[in-house]
Amino acid sequence: EVSSKPLKTTKETHPNLPPGLILDENGKVCKVCNSWADISKIKKRVGATKDTSENQNKKSLVGMGGFATMMNNSNTNTNQGNKIINEEGKEKKEDRLNCPPDNIILGRSTWNFLHTTAAYYPLKANENQKIQMKNLLESLSIFYPCNWCSLDFQKDFKKNPPQVEGRENLMKWLCERHNEVNKKLGKNEFNCEIKNLDNRWKDGPED
Ligand code: FAD
Repeated sequence: EVSSKPLKTTKETHPNLPPGLILDENGKVCKVCNSWADISKIKKRVGATKDTSENQNKKSLVGMGGFATMMNNSNTNTNQGNKIINEEGKEKKEDRLNCPPDNIILGRSTWNFLHTTAAYYPLKANENQKIQMKNLLESLSIFYPCNWCSLDFQKDFKKNPPQVEGRENLMKWLCERHNEVNKKLGKNEFNCEIKNLDNRWKDGPED
């Protein structure tokens, strides 16, 4: 069985990096597996001294280049919607809209797409729609860019094949898969009753 345990930095293996960062298959810090908050700690350590050629070397080793710098620049700012408000309460021009996604943005965007797509799936799908939906979900489980997330998702997917008969089944199935991830991350579970799902993903809350 493939192990989905992520490889992480430790003091011993990566003395110049903060411990606990998830690495990709090439041994570099994985952008889509870590949060900006964690990635931005790299610059603090690497950039603690002058940007010597030694430090530049470390940065290229972790594969961050300008990314960690960009993240670190807005480290002390609060992200309010698209605006960045700095500590003095002034709006700053730069934001993270054009940065590569971290695991939080990627995850949130993907769940948004999946739950919304399920909410607009036919009440009773035809054979072709069922096949297309199965293909979409299976492909997602394979290509989801956070490698260790995708391995866990594939395992869960095998144990619980997608329910694609119609929108209600699909929404519930997806809610349960999302709850598996929520549990793994120590988050609250979502109530998967269809009324609750419709309120969240299609109709909006009742006034
Ligand atoms: P999200 O979990 O992104 O949820 C977005 C919104 O969906 C919530 O605000 C809530 O309103 C609603 N919601 C929450 N739960 C449910 C539910 N069960 N059903 C319906 N709606 C719900 N991150 C990791 O760190 N490790 C992983 O292994 C991992 N695996 C992932 C696998 C997949 C397939 C995906 C798509 C994402 C994965 N993520 C993983 C990312 C993670 O699930 C979150 O997206 C990320 O942590 C951001 O969380 P969030 O609090 O913004 O809310």
